[in-house]
Amino acid sequence: MTQPLTIALSKGRILDDTLPLLAEAGIHPAEDINKSRKLIFDTNHEHIKLVVIRAADVPTYVEYGAADLGVSGKDVLMEYDSDNLCEPLDLKIATCRLMTAAVKGYELPEGRLKVATKFVNVAKKYFAEQGRQVDIIKLYGGMELAPIMGLADLIVDIVDTGNTLKANGLEPRDDIAPISSRLVASRAAMKVKHAQIQPIIDLIGAAVERQQQAK
Ligand code: AMP
Repeated sequence: MTQPLTIALSKGRILDDTLPLLAEAGIHPAEDINKSRKLIFDTNHEHIKLVVIRAADVPTYVEYGAADLGVSGKDVLMEYDSDNLCEPLDLKIATCRLMTAAVKGYELPEGRLKVATKFVNVAKKYFAEQGRQVDIIKLYGGMELAPIMGLADLIVDIVDTGNTLKANGLEPRDDIAPISSRLVASRAAMKVKHAQIQPIIDLIGAAVERQQQAK
């Protein structure tokens, strides 16, 4: 009998784009994920299970082999930054940009900048590459508030429509990276479980192609 294969899905905004993609790939959860409090779901494929977890936890489950594949935002993967993970597919869903932002019209000070973000590693790397001295302030949400309250000069955050920034009197400044969700696997699993994992990558890859063509 084939061993079950588990795909870890990111909760929230990414899930809204992931479920239609999985449906296109012919993978259907046995019950409505959005209406259930369960975390593990059977699918119409006897050997494929889905787990739904916090976006930031997906790389951890995949790296340690608790899940065989994951769906993760590139922002989360950049922040997690593990050499043990690989990205067999760009799913081209939940696209947005990772950017810096500041209060509209605010002139940045010359010296050290205070930067509030939940993307601490990404921000450190970005400002080091820019040759800019920064103090990074770790926040867990509502980053837009930090510049308004005088906690930070800049934030590093996800921008999609820009409406959240605008609604809080902020403006986007510099692009750090374009973001989309990726199918993620551990390098070890790609070797050891290749025969099981590759057909699922192929199924989902073909679904990505069809979704792109339909656009
Ligand atoms: P917006 O107002 O459309 O620019 O959306 C901005 C907020 O939505 C950000 O602060 C993010 O928290 C969230 N967001 C938008 N798109 C994504 C995405 N693809 N992945 C994760 N979070 C997102």
